[in-house]
Amino acid sequence: MAYQKILLALDLSTNTQVLCDKARHLAMCNHSKLGLIHVIEPLVMEYAYDALPMMPAGLEEEMVKRARRELNRLGDNLGIPEELCWVELGGTKNEILRIAREHSFDLIVVGSHGRHGVALILGSTANAVLHSAPCDVLAVRVG
Ligand code: AMP
Repeated sequence: MAYQKILLALDLSTNTQVLCDKARHLAMCNHSKLGLIHVIEPLVMEYAYDALPMMPAGLEEEMVKRARRELNRLGDNLGIPEELCWVELGGTKNEILRIAREHSFDLIVVGSHGRHGVALILGSTANAVLHSAPCDVLAVRVG
């Protein structure tokens, strides 16, 4: 059965082009809609509260703005409208799954590894998404 809606999760690292090419090919073959998502983990989740006063104000907003610009640029190249490009603040796995569920995606594409390195057989995000996904998941071998 052909996939109707494919959600590509990007960490905007060096693997981005490989993943975009693969997802574009899949979407063409299946005549499916393609969406993009990038998640920014809130800085409070990543660093101790003690470090917060040292962080420049507006850093998170700036990260979101930059990511949105980059995602929209990639979306333009892939012919994806802005309303199918999501930049979300939150936990990476949860946000990918939430958008997939809320917008009825039937395939999620992730890289086998990303910024978290190649120490595991499957990277932590790919693994987490695979375990709770409401639909099929394709882990594209990268790195
Ligand atoms: P990692 O867990 O860092 O090994 O990343 C594996 C894959 O998960 C990446 O290639 C992306 O497809 C996806 N991923 C990781 N981090 C993010 C993120 N912040 N936003 C969207 N997708 C992500």
